[in-house]
Amino acid sequence: MSVFDFYVQILYIWPSMSTARVHIKSFGCQMNKLDTALVSACLKQAGLALTDDAENCDVFLINTCSVRSHAEQRVLSHLGNLKHIKETRPGMVVGVVGCMAQRLGGELLARDEVDIVCGPAQIPHIAEFVTGALNGKKKTLAVTEEIRRASEEQTLALEEFESAADGSDRAIPNQAYVRVMRGCNNFCSYCVVPFVRGPEVCRPPKAVIEQIKKLADDGVKSVTLLGQRVNAYEYRQGGKTYCLADLLEMASEVEGIQWLKFVTSYPSEKFFDKILQVMADSSKVCNYLHLPAQSGSDRILRAMNRHYTAGQYLALLEKARAIVPDIVVAGDFIVGFPGESEVDFKETVDLVKKARYKNAFIFKYSPRPGTTAEKEGRDNVLDEVKKQRNTELLDVQSKISDELSSRFLGKDVDVLVEGLSKKPHLNKVEAQGWPQLVGRTATDYIVVFNAGVSLAGQFVKVKITKTSPLTLFGELQTQINTD
Ligand code: SAM
Ligand code: SF4
Repeated sequence: MSVFDFYVQILYIWPSMSTARVHIKSFGCQMNKLDTALVSACLKQAGLALTDDAENCDVFLINTCSVRSHAEQRVLSHLGNLKHIKETRPGMVVGVVGCMAQRLGGELLARDEVDIVCGPAQIPHIAEFVTGALNGKKKTLAVTEEIRRASEEQTLALEEFESAADGSDRAIPNQAYVRVMRGCNNFCSYCVVPFVRGPEVCRPPKAVIEQIKKLADDGVKSVTLLGQRVNAYEYRQGGKTYCLADLLEMASEVEGIQWLKFVTSYPSEKFFDKILQVMADSSKVCNYLHLPAQSGSDRILRAMNRHYTAGQYLALLEKARAIVPDIVVAGDFIVGFPGESEVDFKETVDLVKKARYKNAFIFKYSPRPGTTAEKEGRDNVLDEVKKQRNTELLDVQSKISDELSSRFLGKDVDVLVEGLSKKPHLNKVEAQGWPQLVGRTATDYIVVFNAGVSLAGQFVKVKITKTSPLTLFGELQTQINTD
């Protein structure tokens, strides 16, 4: 063997000889962010190192989202780039994790550049798959055959994995997500989630609270409880039924936790008053409700298999505002759902005007394979029309957001600092060389101000001096001591 060949070989097997460096690229919702944090923690426990350096990593994992076609297209284009990179670095391991892995399985594994395909229910085994691939295992397909029939064994493995994670890989200092339920049983006709995340399973309250205690011991101050229909959380134990309101009450008692949020809520009467009452009574439960309506047309809501009318939805908001007068509400909408007429769309515009959201996430309908709406094969609203409706609804919402945020002018707000702002060019304020930081209020307003980055993870008071529809800008007043 020539000296050159020797070094090529060493370079090839180097990752398995030293601490391999893993880069994780994450797409999608908070659920995915949490999964990325869990995967990171688990890989670190297995002796691997994490790196931000995508160019020079030994393992490239992509945590994927399947909710819209666009998210999947972005993953495929990343995989295309990785294929080129692997031509010069054949030892690099590429893994696709999450919803898209579950949805496409073998189709993804058939791509030359992909070594591991791991669905959401298989992530407890991710360290084993990665080390296997680093040690030369060629292809690993780990998806769940019958995802809608979660086995006891699988549920236990996920529970163990989730409870054991040390959660030290938080993207934002002192803030953490805690899943209270997995999967979804609602089968909204457009949505792929029930097919890739499996049936709804609520975690035992004890496991959730233990996890929050562990996080608090580790310095976490703000916890967001996660579930696809988080307000539907229900767990029966010892003759008692626990709902989200009970979890929030128990979590409020955990020393060190200052803020509790929960997403995403499904518009339903069940437990609604109880949850809102806990919000009103507890200073820790933030006055923020993410309650997607999806449409303002009863006809479209029925076709979407959403179990409420626009009137019932607005009545829930009215009730929420009666119980928690200063509650801040956010929404989600899909425009261009099959069969959505101009009249249907106008009803959505009407609902948005009445709801007065802080902000609304507006999506163009994207047919997802396997869902009822896709199977009916009627993606019959032209893309041009979807775009136009999207822009129109965003404009309506933007005016409302602007009005609501301008009320903060001149006021002091409490902010939990996240870290350096990713868009410092948006507010060119010279503040004696201090960098621009970003944080959030309890009601999820984004606040940008200048200060030292060591404040990341701390509570501060900021005086608001300028507002835009989605962001408040201000000046640091004081740091708030929460110890
Ligand atoms: N479970 C939550 C709920 O019921 O509102 C949200 C789940 S989904 C990950 C987040 C948002 O994506 C939804 O509220 C919906 O507005 C949007 N969405 C889901 N499927 C979609 C599709 N096929 N096309 C466009 N938007 C979609
Ligand atoms: Fe999807 Fe509907 Fe379940 Fe939300 S409630 S995850 S939109 S099926």
